[in-house]
Amino acid sequence: MADTALVRFHTDLRVHDNGALARTVDADRVLPVYCFDPREFEQSEYGPAKTGPYRARFLRESVRDLRESLRDLGGDLAVRHGEPESVIPDLAAEHGADRVCFETKPATEEYAVEGALVDALGERGIAAERTWGKTLYHIEDLPTGVDEIDDTFTPWREEIEREATVRDTRPMPDAIRTPDVEPGEIPTLADLGIEASDGDGASDAGDPDGIGEPDDRAVLDFRGGETAGLARLEEYVWERDRLREYKETRNGLLGADYSSKFSPWLALGCLSPRRVHQVVERYERERVANDSTYWLVFELFWRDYMTFQFEKHGGAFFTPTGIRDVHKDWRRDEQGFGRWAAGETGVPFVDANMRELNATGYMSNRGRQNVASFLADVLRIDWRLGAAHFEAKLLDYDVCSNWGNWAYQAGVGNDSRDDYFDVLSQGERYDPDGEYVRHWLPELGGLPAEAAREPWRLTEDQQAAYGVVLGEDYPEPMVDVERAYGRLRG
Ligand SMILES: Cc1cc2nc3c(=O)[nH]c(=O)nc-3n(C[C@H](O)[C@H](O)[C@H](O)COP(=O)(O)OP(=O)(O)OC[C@H]3O[C@@H](n4cnc5c(N)ncnc54)[C@H](O)[C@@H]3O)c2cc1C
Repeated sequence: MADTALVRFHTDLRVHDNGALARTVDADRVLPVYCFDPREFEQSEYGPAKTGPYRARFLRESVRDLRESLRDLGGDLAVRHGEPESVIPDLAAEHGADRVCFETKPATEEYAVEGALVDALGERGIAAERTWGKTLYHIEDLPTGVDEIDDTFTPWREEIEREATVRDTRPMPDAIRTPDVEPGEIPTLADLGIEASDGDGASDAGDPDGIGEPDDRAVLDFRGGETAGLARLEEYVWERDRLREYKETRNGLLGADYSSKFSPWLALGCLSPRRVHQVVERYERERVANDSTYWLVFELFWRDYMTFQFEKHGGAFFTPTGIRDVHKDWRRDEQGFGRWAAGETGVPFVDANMRELNATGYMSNRGRQNVASFLADVLRIDWRLGAAHFEAKLLDYDVCSNWGNWAYQAGVGNDSRDDYFDVLSQGERYDPDGEYVRHWLPELGGLPAEAAREPWRLTEDQQAAYGVVLGEDYPEPMVDVERAYGRLRG
């Protein structure tokens, strides 16, 4: 009897270096499936939707691109909308599949779904083959097992650099033979229950996703899919030759190339971290090896670390006290949180970053650290609300990187120093000309740099002269920031 393997794609939306797909190279027939799980589009317990319109669109584009790549290989992608643990066993049985291969997604809710899937397959006598593929280092190659890994990044990084190696990328199949299957439509945003609203910075401009044209102030026109992800890798590294200066530019705020912008493609698995690593190594051989080329890989270590930390601590990352059981008096302040989330705090460096996130689904790493610290350290509002807002908005949302970094910033995660970011001095350092705040806060466009960063220092006469009246054109600061930092400095 012909060997038929079903491949469940989830956050590995690529044909290059795909472990689950590579396992099926010897199968007579391969049935690739992507299942839109309605639970991933529901409201989270904190209020916002788990997936907002920008990431949903990026996902749809990625699934469409995967389907095209599989069709180019002679196969197809079956797309379904339903719970994977019921849809996939049914499809597997219908097509006589004897095994289902999938890359595991290491996180609590995802593990619950995968567990239910494995059980349902078992009941039908269908084998489940789970592969590990998210990280640069394979989980089985870690010198110390995840349960024992250090909760501090540096010793862990030093250990893997000393003792572990990155595996080669997995071969891509030359051809795929897919059984005759109803391909299924890729659900629209409306099918997924996602409504674009003005609050998302996106109006219905008549496009199929109903979220309008991308904001032309965005750092990049992010398009989902392996094709676009590989093109960005090629562009950033080879065409624009920016890897050689990554370490010097990575704290930037404006423009496409201050950092790689690989994150949305890495998060959905359109790009494999091993492929990125391979390209960096080739660049080092062919062009230059320096601190910058090393630093991009160093950041991928952070990505790995957050994932392995999740594997170790699991659900503790979602608790207010985090993985270190740190008790802080977190406030619930709906109105205050609403101002932070909308970019209406009256503190321009915070607001500019939040408006960028809300309008585009992206925010720089420097921005993320600052707005997270402002919420947790200055406003003392429950950091999990901030993490949930990011979850809805970010194009590159990854459960481990998001909740892990938020917990870190809130002082309940993998950093025991409990440092805060002073958004005033950070703004001065990283936006010395006020260009970034004026880019995202056009109402402050007429102000000189210092006043654009700290408009509350303007006298009434100056406000009138510049045509920016606080409380009318731009909010008064919701807290006395200078006093707040004075308190934090002790
Ligand atoms: C509060 C907060 C929330 C975050 N949420 C996410 C998230 O949901 N998804 C996400 O991918 N990153 C998250 N990050 C990490 C980081 O901000 C982004 O990965 C980065 O800004 C993406 O831009 P880039 O691809 O140009 O990064 P680059 O600077 O070019 O870095 C290259 C890659 O390294 C990885 N990386 C870099 N920094 C980190 C980090 N601190 N932690 C984990 N991986 C990292 C990313 O995959 C990134 O694409 C968060 C950081 C903070 C402070």
